[in-house]
Amino acid sequence: MTCKELVELVTDYMEGALDADASARFEEHVTACPECLVHLGQMRLTVRAVGRLRGEDISPDARDHLLASFRNWRREG
Ligand SMILES: [Zn+2]
Repeated sequence: MTCKELVELVTDYMEGALDADASARFEEHVTACPECLVHLGQMRLTVRAVGRLRGEDISPDARDHLLASFRNWRREG
């Protein structure tokens, strides 16, 4: 699993929507990738702040912004 794939799956992961195999690969990546661990933590905080968990509640603009932020942040790191 790449970092980009992880970002795309993070809402499904938090919903428990991933199957066992995908969930295991997600956790394997987070364990090995401190950047994604931080990202997951930030997503959890964001979800709590927004009070929603469902991916379809995230507007395309917000999703693009999130992915762009993540890419920039990876570049800076
Ligand atoms: Zn990663």
